Amino acid sequence: MADRRPPDRVIVIGGGLTGLSAAHRLFTRSAALRRPVEVTLLEAKPRIGGAIWTAHREGFMIEGGADSFITNKPWGVDLCRELGLGDALIGTDSTRRRSFVVRNGRLLPVPEGFVMMSPSRIGSILTSPILSLRGKLRLLLERFVPRKTDDSDESLASFVKRRLGREALDRLVQPLVGGIYTADPNDLSIAATLPQFLAMEREYGSLIRAARHQKRADQAASGARYGLFVSLADGMEALPKALSEALPSGTIRTETPVRRISRPDPLGPWRIELLDGSSIEASAVLITTEAHAAARLVDGFDPELALQLRSIPYASSAIVSVAYRRNAIAHPLDGFGAVVPIIEKRSILAISFTSVKFPNRAPADSVLLRVFVGGATQAELFDLDDSAMATIVRRELGELIGATGEPLFLEIRRHPRGMPQYNLGHLDRVAAIRRLESQHEGLGLAGNAFDGVGIPDCIRSGRSAADAILSALTEAGRRAVA
Ligand SMILES: Cc1cc2nc3c(=O)[nH]c(=O)nc-3n(C[C@H](O)[C@H](O)[C@H](O)COP(=O)(O)OP(=O)(O)OC[C@H]3O[C@@H](n4cnc5c(N)ncnc54)[C@H](O)[C@@H]3O)c2cc1C
Repeated sequence: MADRRPPDRVIVIGGGLTGLSAAHRLFTRSAALRRPVEVTLLEAKPRIGGAIWTAHREGFMIEGGADSFITNKPWGVDLCRELGLGDALIGTDSTRRRSFVVRNGRLLPVPEGFVMMSPSRIGSILTSPILSLRGKLRLLLERFVPRKTDDSDESLASFVKRRLGREALDRLVQPLVGGIYTADPNDLSIAATLPQFLAMEREYGSLIRAARHQKRADQAASGARYGLFVSLADGMEALPKALSEALPSGTIRTETPVRRISRPDPLGPWRIELLDGSSIEASAVLITTEAHAAARLVDGFDPELALQLRSIPYASSAIVSVAYRRNAIAHPLDGFGAVVPIIEKRSILAISFTSVKFPNRAPADSVLLRVFVGGATQAELFDLDDSAMATIVRRELGELIGATGEPLFLEIRRHPRGMPQYNLGHLDRVAAIRRLESQHEGLGLAGNAFDGVGIPDCIRSGRSAADAILSALTEAGRRAVA
């Protein structure tokens, strides 16, 4: 039977993918439960999408933030299908599925079968010029390295040095893994970022043994595992756009920064104060902003929660999209891109060969590249002005892939304090935040600061926070009736 109480109002703060996924879930699920809620999403900026941003220019499709997502976490693909975007999902070009690592200024292919830090093909490691003979021998000794016995948090650098050796860390794992989080491997918590590798060590006593076992299991099941990354034919922004279009009109209010939230009466409604001085009352509020922004919002009613949120560090990075005529680049671009180890002492973190990776990103005679600058390890480069950053990027592209002459265009998209760093102690910090959050009925916290930074993680975070709010409202409703 339909619930006849007036609808509860739920405010979602932040119009990135987490907030939009949450608002969409609140809307669809409450309708399915026949317990409608009135959802309003407040976004500070004039546009929705947060870290996702697609632009079209002169026949090019530019991604200023995320350009793809993994399929082995199902929440991204599932949501696209739910929104009718299933046919728009596109895979990477299967003929050029490989990446490079820079060594002494040259692009060398990542050894086949080397996934982040687990080597499944010893032959390809032995023949790869990326590691010295000494580095290769040390890596092969991994099978004899004992398991870690205590369960204290360990940094990515410590884990990899212990298991695979220093050279494998510096030359392969740091650029491949550190680049995802734009993070310093000495600070990054392996338990918070890549727990599957800890599990491999625990279960098999060795990453090499675990990788070979996995490979045999994959071959027995369905052949090799490919096609892990997908994008959308019209660009990643199609996803936030489809989410917003699926919401009733008037749900989303852009250019509406929230100043703070409070609950004057512990049994009464939440008060959401906007920067323009007005305020809105709501039964529940879901904060999906960056953790540092969330800290400012909750400081007034729970300074301890604010402190914990503020203790999640963030790195700033820029994506520089550069277009060239194909014949202005000497490198064959026979792969998806290159990562740059810190020890190479260059001024960029990675180059993605965007128009090689996905179709329709550039006109036929042209190339679109994405260059990553800044991050936790090169924070000072993020602070360069646009013209200095452009000069550095062009110099690096000249030296690394032989790009010559004027680019067709160069566009910089900055993400100040946009990437949370899951540093040592992250899991404890998140547990403390969850404990404090649970003491405030009708308050939810979601987003990329907590349980994963990737697009599928953010979708899951937003949707499960929405479900928790709906359960809490249903429970509160039951209590009110009883
Ligand atoms: C450069 C870059 C590249 C990436 N590439 C990939 C990739 O290829 N694949 C992948 O899976 N992931 C990638 N990610 C990660 C992924 O894109 C993000 O983690 C995800 O989009 C974050 O979504 P979110 O909604 O949690 O946060 P955000 O997108 O940061 O959204 C938070 C929103 O809150 C708003 N806000 C803040 N304060 C207030 C306030 N007071 N009032 C109202 N609104 C407020 C902000 O304006 C913002 O719109 C990348 C991230 C970055 C930064």
